[in-house]
Amino acid sequence: MACEKAGRNPAEVTILAVSKRHKADRIQSLHQLGHNSFGENYAQEALAKMAQLGGTGIEWHFIGPLQSNKTRDVASHFAWVQSVDRKKILLRLSNQRPAELGDLNVCIQVNIDREPQKSGVMPEQAEELAWLASDLPNIRLRGFMTIPQAGSTGHDPHGSYQQMEGLYRAVLEKGLVLDTLSMGMSADLETAIMCGSTMVRIGTDLFGPRPDDKS
Ligand SMILES: *Cc1c(COP(=O)(O)O)cnc(C)c1O
Repeated sequence: MACEKAGRNPAEVTILAVSKRHKADRIQSLHQLGHNSFGENYAQEALAKMAQLGGTGIEWHFIGPLQSNKTRDVASHFAWVQSVDRKKILLRLSNQRPAELGDLNVCIQVNIDREPQKSGVMPEQAEELAWLASDLPNIRLRGFMTIPQAGSTGHDPHGSYQQMEGLYRAVLEKGLVLDTLSMGMSADLETAIMCGSTMVRIGTDLFGPRPDDKS
């Protein structure tokens, strides 16, 4: 419906089910209904659920802040990492990706609203990190991911998403091969889709409120 409004083909926008803080059985239920891509923010929590679920063929996306001491776990258990925001992490993922798993899909996370406490590269640094990613073994650069300033602060994400689309298109024109602009969550997915998102990351609208959600 959001695609129709934005004049977009629904086939151009995929849905990542964000399952952080939800139990493995919730993931299994949605998987059995035919959904295959799930996003997790915490390595330890995710690995525990993967172990519980066994060999389901789920495509796991890591979307949380990534510290150096977790890169090996992430590189060996996930199909995608959407939250790469510095060279050191990128090099470690490239080195630690087990060859038999094939390339690790990577998005560069961009701190589009320049929030001091938020992960992500500053917009003007995104291109350089993207070129580096495109050159590394065991890494397949897919595009950019962003989380705009929270709507609860009264911030309207429309301008942020437009800037992100501009950055994505500019880098495409320079010849980088990208196919993913990961932006939009439950509260603002329509705006993100209007601004060219190719992947929305949906938690609350699929699973309901998160247990123990303090945010
Ligand atoms: C939690 C989270 C989401 C999902 O948020 P909802 O508002 O529950 O849809 C999407 N992206 C990231 C990076 C998240 O951490």
